[in-house]
Amino acid sequence: MIDYQKVLSEIMPRCKQSDRKGVVASYIPELANVSIDKFAMHLIDASKNTYAVGEATETFSIQSISKVLTLAQAFAILGSDIWKRVGVEPSGDPFNHLSLLEQENGIPRNPLINAGAIVVADILVSNLKNPKQDFLNFVRSLTDDPGINFNSAVANSEQRTGFRNYATANLLKSFGNLENDVATVLDFYFHQCAIPMSCSQLTKAFYPFMNQGKCLKNKTHLTQTQTKRVNSIMLTCGFYDEAGEFAFEVGLPGKSGVGGGIVALLPGKYCVATWSPGLNAKGNSKLGMEALEKLTTKTGQSIF
Ligand code: GLN
Repeated sequence: MIDYQKVLSEIMPRCKQSDRKGVVASYIPELANVSIDKFAMHLIDASKNTYAVGEATETFSIQSISKVLTLAQAFAILGSDIWKRVGVEPSGDPFNHLSLLEQENGIPRNPLINAGAIVVADILVSNLKNPKQDFLNFVRSLTDDPGINFNSAVANSEQRTGFRNYATANLLKSFGNLENDVATVLDFYFHQCAIPMSCSQLTKAFYPFMNQGKCLKNKTHLTQTQTKRVNSIMLTCGFYDEAGEFAFEVGLPGKSGVGGGIVALLPGKYCVATWSPGLNAKGNSKLGMEALEKLTTKTGQSIF
């Protein structure tokens, strides 16, 4: 039996001592106020035992981690028709790039880059009665936590400065791959990104992806096959043009956000979240990636 608490307790001091912590995202002004010294890890195993170090119950902006949750909800609603509007190939480009979208006629490479997530947001806006509230309820139900909410200050901050996302949405619209108007879809997208969650809440939200689609309360949110597909997209696309590096170093499907969070999972075994707000040049949490590399190396467990 692996003593996960011991492993996390060994990893944390080594990460905290690092003098290369990356840079806190500031292109969304509201995110720039977070201290670079925050650090947390939280792990939940298949038997629902939990292990934590650092500020594991403190919330931060989940940002692009939300793209997996919107994908799950849209996939559950549309089934495989979703792949008519968004692909499943890694882009090899940064999260907010536009050039491939232009070359490939408005079909985003995958749902975890911004363009793909904006298409998924459009699908939810079209298919949900009260899109923002219904998505929030979905996240609450996955996590079994009714306390999860939007942070409007963060959403408004991105609304004022998200020029690349406006460009992306307009390009999608020009190719006919956006059913609703740009402002409505981006309002949804900025809100999904602006949900604050802690590492402890994130591991619960992602529990279904390591548990064949069933959440902590044993409710089925995705089929086994859908879960396999979402996990494979996390592995190949979850870290944009650093997805290969994450697979190479860590060996788990996962997803990052520019708020400094990462969630990763080992199917059937555990789900883990890290938070360290400093990002590397690719926009992924620098110490979060290092901590997860240490976790899979020390435990000898990964999908490979
Ligand atoms: N809301 C952010 C954006 O669209 C999310 C980016 C991220 O976390 N990588 O730019």
